[in-house]
Amino acid sequence: MKKIALLGSTGSIGTQTLDIVRHHPDRFAITALSAGSNADLVIAQAKEFRPSLVSVATKELAAAVATHVPEGTRVVYGDEGLIEAAAGTDADTVVTAIMGSRGLPATLAAIEEGKAIGLANKETLVTAGHIVMARARERGVPIIPIDSEHSAIFQCLNGEPRGGVHGITLTASGGSFRDRTRAELEGVTVAEALSHPNWSMGAKITIDSATMVNKGLEVIEARWLFDLTYDQIHVLIHPESIIHSYVEFVDRGIVAQLGMPDMRVPIQYALTYPERYPTPTEPLNLAAIGKLHFREMDFERYPCLRMAFECGRMGQSAPAVYNAANEIAVDRFLKGEISFLDIERVLETVVERHEVCEINDLQSIAEVDAWARRLAATV
Ligand code: NDP
Ligand code: MG
Repeated sequence: MKKIALLGSTGSIGTQTLDIVRHHPDRFAITALSAGSNADLVIAQAKEFRPSLVSVATKELAAAVATHVPEGTRVVYGDEGLIEAAAGTDADTVVTAIMGSRGLPATLAAIEEGKAIGLANKETLVTAGHIVMARARERGVPIIPIDSEHSAIFQCLNGEPRGGVHGITLTASGGSFRDRTRAELEGVTVAEALSHPNWSMGAKITIDSATMVNKGLEVIEARWLFDLTYDQIHVLIHPESIIHSYVEFVDRGIVAQLGMPDMRVPIQYALTYPERYPTPTEPLNLAAIGKLHFREMDFERYPCLRMAFECGRMGQSAPAVYNAANEIAVDRFLKGEISFLDIERVLETVVERHEVCEINDLQSIAEVDAWARRLAATV
């Protein structure tokens, strides 16, 4: 029986993780659930999965939730509660499905406790990949990607000597506006931006897909997960999201991973690796699909992806600043404060004004992150 602590249980990845647990009740158990403010859902989840610990965003929510959870379930809150959910139960695996760099201290705390990480929370690696990967190596903790592209690369690399890898290609659906020119992006609405053609995901990552920031975060995530140079990481537009990503080897052989766009497959693989079990997902029928399409990535159409490569190459604090500025810009767009194209303007301004510095501990990361958020909230 694998014991799982689930951070972000009420979100898109969180609820799909619980779907997998529900599907294999003899293999998986939940020891901790962490939510933000969706009290009703986390109460229902606690009743169903009987964790020893539930964490929510605030003290008030914790008091409200505590009277409804089963006896024996302790309710905690805030950033400390999140850390306790990640590191304070007897879970052997932590699924990080919380949104944003807020998940970093909890992920590090879980690594310190020697817990395996099923990593969906890409902002964590973008912000502090050097620290997270080094600590995971030192503690002998596996970090198994849940992001579909990275799960694909992880599967393609399985058992391959690393010296044989020439490079990897992350596929990108192109997001909700892939068939629009830049001129046609003026004045697009939040509702339009939130309708992704292939995947049903949380609001922030859906906007990130439309701006191509998501692919930018994934490029940096891949750099850390697979220890690659930025020259070895490529991005290709593939509207159908059937080829989840691929590896090219030095002999020009290519290994790709394919499947229906259903996050439950990479979520489950992260929990069962190296074994495989059936999932409740639809089988892929290539004959029914007929054709797959590919387009070269256009860095002028998607300047946020260009900026991600630039920040990744600059290294040190630059990726953390890129990520934090984007979290605020997306939040402002979702609230109707700025336009869609303003997201890249905010990003560009914050990244340009930032003087890159070393960030080697949580304190310095928090300072840089806060600086970028303050600036992104006002430009
Ligand atoms: P959602 O927005 O659907 O869910 C986010 C989760 O984080 C919710 O459970 C939310 O709780 C919780 N949360 C938000 N704020 C806080 C807080 N202050 N304290 C504690 N918990 C909080 O996001 P997704 O599931 O789409 O994405 C989660 C992560 O996975 C992101 O890093 C994303 O990039 C990554 N990812 C997602 C994919 C997808 O298909 N959705 C694919 C690949 C990666 P509540 O709702 O209760 O407020
Ligand atoms: Mg992805």
